[in-house]
Amino acid sequence: MPPDLPALLPGWVWLVGAGPGEPGLLTLLGAKALAEADVVVHDALVDPRLLRMARDGARLVHAGKRGGTPSPAQPDISARLVREARAGARVLRLKGGDPLVFGRGAEEALALVAEGIPFRIVPGITAGIGGLAYAGIPATHRTTNAAITFITGHGAGGDEPGDLDWDAIARGSPAIVLYMALKRIGTIAERLVAAGRSPGEPAAIISRASSERQRVHETTLGGLADAARTAETPAVIAIGEMVRLRVGLDWVGAMTGRTLLSNPFKR
Ligand code: SAH
Repeated sequence: MPPDLPALLPGWVWLVGAGPGEPGLLTLLGAKALAEADVVVHDALVDPRLLRMARDGARLVHAGKRGGTPSPAQPDISARLVREARAGARVLRLKGGDPLVFGRGAEEALALVAEGIPFRIVPGITAGIGGLAYAGIPATHRTTNAAITFITGHGAGGDEPGDLDWDAIARGSPAIVLYMALKRIGTIAERLVAAGRSPGEPAAIISRASSERQRVHETTLGGLADAARTAETPAVIAIGEMVRLRVGLDWVGAMTGRTLLSNPFKR
């Protein structure tokens, strides 16, 4: 550990990103918070091996946050953070990926602000970047995409995000990464194709990225809906020419000799 890292103090809440899965992707500040916290309020997506890094006697509180499983309502989680901090606990709120990327971390931080609770935000590696890296897909590459757009397939109302201008995204963003989009990828892909994207454009579904059960399904924009039917959650979906680089950059596949479900670009 570098010297002079800040300490998680009693009465404070640290909102920490745990990264996409692989425990080694936690930041040093995250590891320090795990070693110091009295209570760890964590999402379902956080790897149990990370939770075992909590100090002896720390209380582990499961806050859900996984599609399909019952989880406490968001206001309950925020209220819990406030209550624990008020009682003088050192509180670690450990969230999957980055706490401020499609993770409702800002809502929790705003609740802390409203109650005057001191907090620190510790960013994490988001699935849309780290997950792609583990699939051998660069988020950007000089010859393929000078821009990238992160989109949630899950709007605040539960349906696909209706306030997005899909025509503008299709025209303006050479690379697209979708979170929480397996169920709605059919509709989303249709909109992108209707707005001029080629159905043959490379795409990939990256499931359980950076875990031992990582699976990458390479397909095309037109093939995404079919591929999504058998894909496991959690998954991010990458669309764009940068997906082709995986043919040379699939370092996880090279290490494990894992075969791909399908790979139309590999000969
Ligand atoms: N804050 C998180 C995102 C939370 S939303 C982050 O920054 O990564 C949950 C969504 O994140 C999932 O539905 C999935 O789209 C994506 N996700 C999280 N972990 C993932 C993983 N290991 N592999 C693939 N996708 C993942």
